[in-house]
Amino acid sequence: MTSTVPIKLVVLGVLLAGLILTFDLSLPLGVAGGVPYVALVLLGTWFPRIWHLFFLAVAGSVLTLVGLFLSPEGGIPWVVLTNRILALFAIWITAFLIAIRKKAENQLREREEELRRVSRLGDMGQMASALAHELGQPLTAIGNYIQAASRHLERSGEDGLDKVQGNLEKAVAQSNRAGQIIRSLREFIEKGETKRAALNANDLIEEAASMALLGVAADGYRVTRMLGYGLPPVIANKVQIQQVVVNLLRNSVEAMAGTTRREITITSSLDGDTAVKIAVSDTGPGLPDEVSSQLFKPFVTTKPDGMGVGLSICRAIIDDHGGRFEAAPNPGGGTIFSFTVPTASKRG
Ligand code: ADP
Repeated sequence: MTSTVPIKLVVLGVLLAGLILTFDLSLPLGVAGGVPYVALVLLGTWFPRIWHLFFLAVAGSVLTLVGLFLSPEGGIPWVVLTNRILALFAIWITAFLIAIRKKAENQLREREEELRRVSRLGDMGQMASALAHELGQPLTAIGNYIQAASRHLERSGEDGLDKVQGNLEKAVAQSNRAGQIIRSLREFIEKGETKRAALNANDLIEEAASMALLGVAADGYRVTRMLGYGLPPVIANKVQIQQVVVNLLRNSVEAMAGTTRREITITSSLDGDTAVKIAVSDTGPGLPDEVSSQLFKPFVTTKPDGMGVGLSICRAIIDDHGGRFEAAPNPGGGTIFSFTVPTASKRG
């Protein structure tokens, strides 16, 4: 988040303050001419920091009192004082309410950053896991081939070949060591943090959606929530399931970036007796053919800066939770991604 004060806002603030002061001084003191300073405080909504907002409130208050003392009217009757106190009250109550909203927005932005970082770590973990898997096999093969060659040389019985044999044995030892390192790296990644708890699926969706969809309404995206009432709690790792929802919502937003119809629907419902189903549908162009044939393979992407691991991570997370992850075309055009998460009380 940028913390520099936009110069246009400062100019606007000064002009507004000057205008209100002139207006205030042109009125009889009995009129509450200081109240329009509330507009100055409202400008604080667009300033990046909370202290900027309080600076505007202080400026508004000082100018309210300046208006009182600069007025050519003499004496300060009680009605004038009441008007000024009311103006100060309006200024500070507005500043306070905006500050509460700004604080909530800042917290949301921080959480989004945190989730992005966690999601990035997840992507890296998946990549490292795939690499470990890919590299482990050829390394084992190298070891086997070299061992066979070594046995071959042993049988040939030639003295001059002793050194070669010694070197080959060292190579076997080294490749075994590399394999061991990769195995422990893989174990380390796969045994990552998987603490689970009984959670309300709708709360989980709301939180993830507020992070993933921050500001998209301004770009013409319409988001509809159809969340089931009275759903049983799900047994889940909160961060992981939120990572899935955020991934799906971001994919939908990105898929519809080039279309005029931009509708996202998030639903939650009971799936049989033992699971809750969460679905994200969009009205985008649908899955490209080259992607749908190998949907959950890592590193499949159509985005210039995409890593192509999001969906495979989503599926791995849902599999790990004992749920089902699916993709289907949206009948009205677009894609529906859905997944299930087991509930806490498995009935029947
Ligand atoms: P990335 O987003 O990094 O490319 P993903 O695994 O999230 O990787 O997605 C792989 C590919 O699947 C994307 O590049 C895109 O082509 C396709 N895709 C994913 N979600 C959607 C969607 N909602 N609509 C259309 N295509 C999608």
